[in-house]
Amino acid sequence: MLDVYICPNCELVRYVSKDKTHCFRCDVEMKHADIPYADYIKLNSEERRPYILQAKQEP
Ligand SMILES: [Zn+2]
Repeated sequence: MLDVYICPNCELVRYVSKDKTHCFRCDVEMKHADIPYADYIKLNSEERRPYILQAKQEP
């Protein structure tokens, strides 16, 4: 089962099965998106926007 992680810095999205992951561009900890991978990949770019914004807003 893959989870969705979003970089709060460059908005890179990765799908991983780990608890935590780092952005390979920025070397910052990526934020876990509260949506399963299987659902996320069905969204268009507009529908993905709230998840990216949420990742950027978390402390
Ligand atoms: Zn990044």
